[in-house]
Amino acid sequence: MSKLINSYEIELNPPPSGKSGLWTVSARLKDDIAEVLPYLNAELKGADYDHNAQVLMWKTKERRYMFRPREISASRIEDREEGAKVAQKIVDDVNRIWERRSEIKPNFEQRKLPTVIDIYKLLPKTNCKECGYLTCMAFANDLREAQATISQCPYLSAENKDKLLQLFG
Ligand code: SF4
Repeated sequence: MSKLINSYEIELNPPPSGKSGLWTVSARLKDDIAEVLPYLNAELKGADYDHNAQVLMWKTKERRYMFRPREISASRIEDREEGAKVAQKIVDDVNRIWERRSEIKPNFEQRKLPTVIDIYKLLPKTNCKECGYLTCMAFANDLREAQATISQCPYLSAENKDKLLQLFG
């Protein structure tokens, strides 16, 4: 049986400018994986899926993953070697789930991701750049895309931090 993902290219994305920290790895896919997303939604516990937007987010203890039709990305990467290993593992996992799809009931249920505006509303809106982003809006955008983490903003009130955590489940 042919694999769903046959080849991909690795891209490492640095932490925001001026910040040290962990990188994000993206596997740029030659194959379109939109069809597997409802199966991933069924199999990956706690995944957030937006069927219309064709994006699925999944969080484990170690990192956050984002799946789009031609891209899988993972956060909290130390270096290129770790990025390559993490990308290969998640690609293998997706291929395995695709191979077993006849045994899986696809889940089209959406748990819609918060909008950038929903997230922005909870940020301090001072554009202080402490998180490494030029604006709170840019930070909100990357939080939604799992390219940033809530802890990067040191000025969040405890209340809004809790609300943000709830937004992301
Ligand atoms: S650290 Fe917080 S307040 Fe400052 S720019 Fe980033 S998100 Fe906005």
